[in-house]
Amino acid sequence: MTTIKVTCPECGDIDLVPGDLSLCIAPNWATYSFDCPECGDKVQKAADSEVVDLLSSAGVPTVHVPAEALEPHTGGPIGYDDLLDFALVLTDDSAMAAGLARISTPLAPRSRKRRIRR
Ligand SMILES: [Zn+2]
Repeated sequence: MTTIKVTCPECGDIDLVPGDLSLCIAPNWATYSFDCPECGDKVQKAADSEVVDLLSSAGVPTVHVPAEALEPHTGGPIGYDDLLDFALVLTDDSAMAAGLARISTPLAPRSRKRRIRR
C-alpha cells in the first residue's frame, strides 16, 4: 500500500495512507489536508502542481472546486417567492423580453455579422 509522508506542525513527520488525506483543487489554488493521528489537529497546506500530481496519482480523494463557487455573490438566498415570480415571468413573453433587455449587453461588432435575420 502507498504510504505518504506528511508533516504536522506539532508532531513532525508522520506516515499516512491515501485515504487519510484529502485534496482540494480550485482553478487558481490547491490544498491538501489531513487529521494528524498523533495530536488530532486538522492540518491544511497549500499544494503546488507537483504535489497535486503526486497525491492524485497516489489515489488521494479529490474535490474539485468549480470556478462558479468562487464567484462573488450578493443578496440573500433564492426563496420560494423568487421561484414563483420567475415562473410567472416565464409565462409572460413581454415581461420576459423586458427582463432580458435589462440584463443583456449590446452585441459586439463582430457578433453582429453572425446575426441571423428573419
Ligand atoms: Zn500532530
